[in-house]
Amino acid sequence: MTRYWPLALGSFRFGSGFGPRDGGFHAGQDFEAADGTPFYACAGGTVLYIGEAQGYGQWIVIDHPASVGGGVTEYGHMWHAGATGLQVGDRVDGGQLLGYVGSNGQSSGPHLHLSVMPHGYAPQAKLDPMTWLASAIYPDGGPMIRGLDFAGGRPGAAAIRAAGFGFVVRYLSHGGPSLPGKQLLPEEAEDYRAHGVEIVSNWESWGDRMREGRAAGREDAQAALAQVLACGGRPNRPIYFSADWDASEDEQDAIDEYLRGAAEVIGEDNVGIYGGYWPLSRALDHGTARWAWQAEAWSGWNVDPRIHLLQRNSVGYVNVGGVDCDVNEARKPDYGQWSISQEAPMNDEVLGDIREQLCGTGQREPGHYGGWPQLGDRTVVDALAAIGAKLGIDGFEGPCART
Ligand SMILES: [Zn+2]
Repeated sequence: MTRYWPLALGSFRFGSGFGPRDGGFHAGQDFEAADGTPFYACAGGTVLYIGEAQGYGQWIVIDHPASVGGGVTEYGHMWHAGATGLQVGDRVDGGQLLGYVGSNGQSSGPHLHLSVMPHGYAPQAKLDPMTWLASAIYPDGGPMIRGLDFAGGRPGAAAIRAAGFGFVVRYLSHGGPSLPGKQLLPEEAEDYRAHGVEIVSNWESWGDRMREGRAAGREDAQAALAQVLACGGRPNRPIYFSADWDASEDEQDAIDEYLRGAAEVIGEDNVGIYGGYWPLSRALDHGTARWAWQAEAWSGWNVDPRIHLLQRNSVGYVNVGGVDCDVNEARKPDYGQWSISQEAPMNDEVLGDIREQLCGTGQREPGHYGGWPQLGDRTVVDALAAIGAKLGIDGFEGPCART
């Protein structure tokens, strides 16, 4: 039975504890942390309540089954309890990301309030979380990697690394004189590779370009792919195409058509969408996008659980290397970064294909292969040998010479 501290090591200070306070009683433990610091489930369980709550502004309550020691934990003061997409009834693992520290409700500064109840939801029975967490371990901060996107300049890979970011989502389109840092350049990509900063592809010429439909999608995908290849990328990785406006439902047809146009060029498995919750979720539902980079903007604090990347517009810009950047989080191990190889698994079907190519489709018996009719019923090796022998190339023998 493992319990977790609700915040990662080094990300918080202990604040007000369990006990009398200001003539009343503080029935929990406060963890002071910077606004936006991730917090995690103290144990596995089920979301009992989530959303608005008096005093807390917003809260999340998790019910823990007896198999992990039972009890209920209550987390308060976040700005948006639904920031990670959780809903009532969802299962969470111990140490799983639940949300981000805020200062909502009756709060004097950014902190997480944690209350613990020993058996089921019983507010009168709250106990000291420090006792309950006595043998807790720290959550590892999860596999979450943070990254940046920017257009106003190029911060440089060393500065990006030094600031603790692991990837960049880069525009493949140029930004003209007003945004000289927008387009990914070959020497820039080389800099990222040298410093171990992952690259993710985006295409955005202007915000509502998708309104122009299928031909525009085809044209943009061609330009995007050319820039990927010029920068040392591979053609079989996703490109996120931007719906960078508050797109309405009646604009979805044009968006889907644009994405289908892109799929004609780069393949439907490689088409991604950037945008707010609704157009992005619709594109995933319709199968016109397989990859999703969601903005918090235009999303009403909804997060689609299928997304690969989340742009944390709510935390504002960070300045890295003199450039204002948006902060992003990876939500899946494969979020579209160039370095991941997509080799086909060596399954029986693949091995069968290879064998057929070498040996042909004809009738097979042990020690004898049917060959290909277009090679005179020879296998690939026998056909090569026959050609070499005919041409008199040194060392080539006709296929029957050894039998
Ligand atoms: Zn408190």
